Amino acid sequence: MSDFPREARVVIVGGGIVGCSLAYHLGKRGCREVVLLERRKLTCGTTWHAAGLVGQLRATHNLTRLAQYTTNLYAGLEAETGQATGFRQRGSLAVASHAERFEELRRGAAMARCFGLAVEVLTPSEAGALYPLLETKDLVGAVFLPKDGQTSPVDTAQALAKGARAAGVRILEDAPVTAVLHRAGRVIGVRTPQGDIAAEIVVNCAGMWGRDLAASCGVAVPLHAAEHFYIVTEPMAEVSPNLPVLRDPDSRAYFKEEAGKLLVGWFEPKAKPWGMEGIPPDFSFDTLPADIEHIEPELERAIHRLPALGKAGIKLFFNGPESFTPDNRYLLGEAPELKNFWLACGFNSIGIQSAGGAGKVLADWILDGHPPMDLWDVDIRRTMPFQRNRRYLRDRTVETLGLLYDMHWPFRQVETARGVRRSPLHDRLAATGACFGELAGWERANWFAPPGIKPEYRYSYGRQNWFEFSAAEHRAVREAVGLFDQTSFGKYVVEGPDAEAVLDRISANNIAVPPGRCVYTQWLNERGGIEADLTVTRESETRFLVVTSAACQTRDLAWLKRNIPGEARVAVFDATSAYAVLGVMGPLSRALLQSLTDDDLANTAFPFAASREIDLAYARVRATRITYVGELGWELYIPSEFALGVYDAIVATGAQFGLKHAGYHALNSLRVEKAYRHWGHDITEEDTPLEAGLGFAVAFGKERPFIGRDALQRQRDAGIKRRLATFALDDADRMLYHNEPIWRDGELVGRTTSGMFGHTIGRAIAFGYVEDHGRIVEPEFLRTGSYEIEVAGDRIPARCTAGALYDAKSERIRM
Ligand SMILES: Cc1cc2nc3c(=O)[nH]c(=O)nc-3n(C[C@H](O)[C@H](O)[C@H](O)COP(=O)(O)OP(=O)(O)OC[C@H]3O[C@@H](n4cnc5c(N)ncnc54)[C@H](O)[C@@H]3O)c2cc1C
Repeated sequence: MSDFPREARVVIVGGGIVGCSLAYHLGKRGCREVVLLERRKLTCGTTWHAAGLVGQLRATHNLTRLAQYTTNLYAGLEAETGQATGFRQRGSLAVASHAERFEELRRGAAMARCFGLAVEVLTPSEAGALYPLLETKDLVGAVFLPKDGQTSPVDTAQALAKGARAAGVRILEDAPVTAVLHRAGRVIGVRTPQGDIAAEIVVNCAGMWGRDLAASCGVAVPLHAAEHFYIVTEPMAEVSPNLPVLRDPDSRAYFKEEAGKLLVGWFEPKAKPWGMEGIPPDFSFDTLPADIEHIEPELERAIHRLPALGKAGIKLFFNGPESFTPDNRYLLGEAPELKNFWLACGFNSIGIQSAGGAGKVLADWILDGHPPMDLWDVDIRRTMPFQRNRRYLRDRTVETLGLLYDMHWPFRQVETARGVRRSPLHDRLAATGACFGELAGWERANWFAPPGIKPEYRYSYGRQNWFEFSAAEHRAVREAVGLFDQTSFGKYVVEGPDAEAVLDRISANNIAVPPGRCVYTQWLNERGGIEADLTVTRESETRFLVVTSAACQTRDLAWLKRNIPGEARVAVFDATSAYAVLGVMGPLSRALLQSLTDDDLANTAFPFAASREIDLAYARVRATRITYVGELGWELYIPSEFALGVYDAIVATGAQFGLKHAGYHALNSLRVEKAYRHWGHDITEEDTPLEAGLGFAVAFGKERPFIGRDALQRQRDAGIKRRLATFALDDADRMLYHNEPIWRDGELVGRTTSGMFGHTIGRAIAFGYVEDHGRIVEPEFLRTGSYEIEVAGDRIPARCTAGALYDAKSERIRM
């Protein structure tokens, strides 16, 4: 007790594989005074019972980079620390038993190649040769990743802990953190039965306990435990130690050789949430009761795939808990609610293969003040405060466990815990045939089914059932007028004598404009990377309205608040719930709206980027002439209780103008034709406005320096080494989504960032950054050369351009 630490720079809460990896990487970076506190014994939570699969291919490039890093780290850990890890690299084989799954695997293989992973696409008989126990009769193909591995989770965590200790980290067991101490919005330490430890930084690596630990200090960490099952057979003569890991996602099963036995685990479609009353504090190296009935159908499918399994004795029915998040991606970063409270939890059953990379990037993020790469996929700031709601988490967890092996359909919508956030217009839109998708809890109309058609998705990799309906919405916006419900926008009011100065320093564009102007801008970090992409509307001398996407509501507010100097006289209010937003877009939008207002909407009186309050129907609304679809149009910001009245008036009058309801899929197809970027896909904190073709929105010459200006100036002077370009496929039948490899004159030069079918252009369109071996990329490089996009292994010729494919001069939005 006497040497129990009383202070530390960093306290890590939790000694599972993630906490151990963070400790290891902080130690490696030379960070002193790091203390890891484990409630009971290292690995006693979830880590000890993991199956130990270490795959490398993830859904995005950066997550794949992290998994690759993990593999390389584990491969060398034993030699480095002297602690055996059980790591072996025998590869992994994924099989497909229907054409759509094979397309998914081939798209994944193309992506893997583009990310630099070794990958082979195999026929069923080639797969059978690699895995002789496999039933191949009903397979259509397979993909093999020879460098994938498997490891012993306990030994690997212990090796990381050993490496951490060697680097000076103190690891204390039987040291539960009972409270996170904080003052004035910032962490100051932790409480344990052995006494308090004052700390600058506290990191929540508490696994399935992470939600409640965070909640105790006012932080929302949406995760929930679920039961997770596998079996281990008796030794099987047919099982050779050289077998790769086998995944059969259509049977929802994975198979791993383990000392002559087979470990078979599942990601069943309907999971069993666990720990509804909180995770028991004394849970340690415990298991949950076996539920053979629950896994029986899965076991039968597994026996079909591996008939030898049917004859093997089963030594162990295992059931252990793991934590899952609402979108099946883990949670990393600093909590927006509490300064210096960081987290790394909610690993959705891939915590072993993610721990190495997650620990590395989190250590860098903590010590450098920014992540070493774009980590938006796993950033805690993508979550919403409501998501800590237990009932919501429990209901969603039923679905999330199975997502790993579910078909990763384009446009797939979650099916559980729906109807959380609804616009005031929700029921009206539903009555009009809306098919809703979910984002950040919002129900949003993605497309509208004509009368007689059920508003329901039928997924595929080709044109889905809503393709023609969305095309009609798209055309209505181009040719007449469309109505979008954009209520889900994040909206903040920024008010006070210093509001202009604060926002102007954060915004790359000049927002010191006269009242009544709307400015499109990026918020940059010190490295010139794009932290946010939004509009700032000046309502008065002292009041601004900031509008961002629904997905960024938490993130952009956190960025704004973090960048307000302590002495600034400014208040920020999240007004997201205060306003409904209607987008009235298309060449006839002026005529339609003019029939409902006495205010003058003529181009001279109400030019592009103007914004002011007008009478509309019986309401007073803010009308802003701006567009994300590339047509004349207005966004209407309507106090929520007036929304229905305004909507009804617009719809009643709209009939004579050919008004059509339009959904988010049409919004997407319209914006890709206009080359409007989407934050999170086309632009991230790794990309600068100059690379993204957004230099027009950077006010280099404005009086106040803005965050990121110096970095951008340096880049402008040195030349740009990657440029975002637009691609349109020659073959109108193929579809683009994202992460497709881009080839120029037979050389890989990039990958797509987002894609959608453009109905006016009549083909699939995508964006992607193009590079030239680290050399400066001039626009000429985009115009010359012959480009192809690889779709599921086929290279499709494509046209490449720097700008928009539709109305490149933006004449239509200014008419
Ligand atoms: C059946 C099963 C199979 C799996 N198979 C794989 C696989 O093949 N590959 C893969 O990548 N992943 C797999 N996983 C997932 C993997 O096991 C987890 O994602 C990973 O172990 C999570 O690690 P962690 O460190 O976040 O959590 P944990 O291992 O649970 O560690 C959290 C630690 O925090 C401690 N703690 C909690 N509260 C406090 C407190 N207040 N004070 C101090 N300490 C505290 C706990 O005691 C615990 O030791 C599997 C999981 C299961 C259940």
